[in-house]
Amino acid sequence: MTHRTGMMIGGIATAAGHFAPAATFFPPVRRLAEPWVLCRAHTGRAEVAITFDDGPDPGYAPQFLETLGKTPATFFWLGTRVRAHRDVVRDAVAGGHEIACHGDDHRTLARLGPRATIDALTRARDAIGEAAGTPPAFYRPAYGVWNGTAWGVAPRLGMQRTLWCKWAWDWHSRTTTTQIVERTLAGARPGAILLLHDADGAPGAPTRTRDALTAILEGLSARGLRPVTLSQLIAPTP
Ligand SMILES: [Zn+2]
Repeated sequence: MTHRTGMMIGGIATAAGHFAPAATFFPPVRRLAEPWVLCRAHTGRAEVAITFDDGPDPGYAPQFLETLGKTPATFFWLGTRVRAHRDVVRDAVAGGHEIACHGDDHRTLARLGPRATIDALTRARDAIGEAAGTPPAFYRPAYGVWNGTAWGVAPRLGMQRTLWCKWAWDWHSRTTTTQIVERTLAGARPGAILLLHDADGAPGAPTRTRDALTAILEGLSARGLRPVTLSQLIAPTP
C-alpha cells in the first residue's frame, strides 16, 4: 500500500461522503481497505477466529452452539434478532463465545441515510450490549457494504470495523458441505478471520454449514491452529 493509495482510500471513506458505499466484499477493494478494516490479525500465535453472521436464529443457533462445544467463536448478530432471542444470546455468552454486531437488520447500508444508519448501529449495539452483558467490540456490515456514515460512526460507538479474510460461500444453494470445509481450511493460517453463516442464505444452507463445522474444527486442529474469539485473536501477545 503506497501512501498515495492510502490517501485515496481514506478519501473514498470521508470526502466522497455518505452515499459512496464501499463494496468491500470484492477482494481487491477489501485488500485496499485493510489498513482501516480488520480483515486478519497480525499475530505470531497459531490462532484463527471462526466468525458467523446473520443470527441468532432460535432454531439454528443452539445447533451451532452444541456443535462448537467448548470451541470459542464470534457471532456477528443482528439487533432485531438479538432483541427477540435474548436467551440464545445468553447461552452463547455462557458458552464462552463473543457477540459482535452485524447491524440492526440485514438491509444494505447503501439504502440507509446518515440518520437511519446512526440509529440502526446504535440500536444494534445497545441491544447486544444489554443481552450479552458486554457491548460489541466489532461491527461487520451486511454484505460487506459500507456507507460513509457507518465507516465513521462504528469506531465512535466502540466497534472496530471488521470484515474477513476467507469466506466459504456457505449461504449459496450450490455450495456443498465438503466445499464449505475445503474453502474454509484453504484460508486457515495464523491470524485468519474466517466467515461462515449461522442463519439465512439458501434453503438448508445453515444446516450444511453446521454439518461442515466438525470437519473444519478437525482440520484446524490438524494444522496446529487454535480457534479463539476475535477479541482474543487481536489481543497483543503478553
Ligand atoms: Zn449477513
